[in-house]
Amino acid sequence: MNQGLLDELRACVGAAHVACEGELDDGYLVDARKRYFGRALAVVRPGNTAEAAAVVRTCAAHGVPIVPQGGNTGLVGGGVPNDSGREVVLQLGRMQSIRSIDPDNLSMTVDAGCVLQQVREHARTHGLLFPLSIGSQGSCTIGGNMATNAGGSQVVHYGNARELCLGLEVVTAAGEIWNGLSGLRKDNSGYDLRDLFIGSEGTLGIITAASLKLFAPPAATLTALLACADIDTAITLLARLRTGTTAQLTGFEVMARHAMQLVASHFPQIPQPLKPAPWTILVEFAADDEERARDWLHARLVETDCDAVTASNQTQADALWRLRDAIPLAQAREGLNIKHDIALPVSQIGGFLREMDTALPALVPDVRTVVFGHLGDGNLHFNLQAPEGVSPAEFLLRHEANCNACVHDAVMTRGGSFAAEHGIGRLRRSELARRKSPVALAMMRSIKQALDPHNLMNPGRVLQDAGQDA
Ligand code: FAD
Repeated sequence: MNQGLLDELRACVGAAHVACEGELDDGYLVDARKRYFGRALAVVRPGNTAEAAAVVRTCAAHGVPIVPQGGNTGLVGGGVPNDSGREVVLQLGRMQSIRSIDPDNLSMTVDAGCVLQQVREHARTHGLLFPLSIGSQGSCTIGGNMATNAGGSQVVHYGNARELCLGLEVVTAAGEIWNGLSGLRKDNSGYDLRDLFIGSEGTLGIITAASLKLFAPPAATLTALLACADIDTAITLLARLRTGTTAQLTGFEVMARHAMQLVASHFPQIPQPLKPAPWTILVEFAADDEERARDWLHARLVETDCDAVTASNQTQADALWRLRDAIPLAQAREGLNIKHDIALPVSQIGGFLREMDTALPALVPDVRTVVFGHLGDGNLHFNLQAPEGVSPAEFLLRHEANCNACVHDAVMTRGGSFAAEHGIGRLRRSELARRKSPVALAMMRSIKQALDPHNLMNPGRVLQDAGQDA
């Protein structure tokens, strides 16, 4: 049966774009965190939407499940095959056309396989801004960004991927093409199918193109690094900075002491211009007049009593962002860790962190909490690194379940989310099953059943299949 299927897949996309077991690059089979190692029946790389639709129809006819994959930078194991060897990876990396740009409409339409950085640069060449900004932007794709509803460092002003998307083109589970590539800002003609596919992590269909919202870039940006004695001061500062009219807050990133220490030990070449502090904050503003914005910021900082350095030019601003972007890389070098991607109302964050300061060491003495993230959106990466001298693998095996329960119970009690921006994938599907309301889960299952009745679109991701492990 496999030989027949493989021949048909070769006919869909050309033999050069189908690789089978034995010829497969590990890059398609292992996730970015190196937690999930899979096998695939084949990796298939269509060159356009019609080819992608033909692949889906072929797999559907053979009852073979499909795992869509973009840049494979996802952090929840949703874009790599499981270890059955039965799944086909549909990899969109060859679909890289910028289809059109409409400056008057402030929109552009791109193939799903376009790399985010490439899209940002293309908008810039037209004097426009596509503001989605995430640490993986040199490798992740627009299709993956939409499939995960990616967040990143500019959400506080511009919103998540969902708010930046005007329309989608999707190949359905039956292999039909839905062209929803609207450039419209208003369209209430029935259910919003675009919003259904955004954040669906490949479980409802294949996103093959997206229409994106563009913006006029700000005349100036101002970037500064601040040091705060405690989280309450950081939250007060956030409230003051986000209500300014002289400058618009576009980023507010916090980095706790342990996170900065990890960067210092793994990337000593990246300068840390401020003395170590309980919290270091990276802020960015859009402004019409840089000098006025600088004066305004300095006045706010004097009121709050924070140490600060302000970037004088783009090179200095980039160096400050390098510090922030280095944290996940430093964590990876330190070894596997227990990750939590949580969201809380900003007003609850101080209480949550104080609760964790006592609850976690009671579970795992000397555990290292590495906290950083997008405080402006109430989204923290609340990660736990093994105590010094303890093997990361042993730490995960012994403590992951208890630590997850401790952190996520506290988050949910405070009205938060256990999956803020990275999604569910395989990593958090049992949490979803446990913590989402039965009514919400039933509606999700009905949608899945309606759009993918044979459960061939990324099965077992997001929603657990019957009998599936945690
Ligand atoms: P993949 O990893 O290939 O896939 C992710 C999911 O989407 C999978 O379930 C896959 O099946 C599905 N999928 C992919 N393409 C399609 C498609 N065309 N159609 C349907 N389904 C599809 N995320 C954030 O939100 N904010 C951050 O700040 C952030 N920073 C990161 C920093 C680093 C260093 C790394 C490694 C990751 C970071 N991420 C962040 C996570 C990741 O980059 C995002 O989730 C990104 O949107 C994934 O895009 P991708 O193309 O790599 O998708």
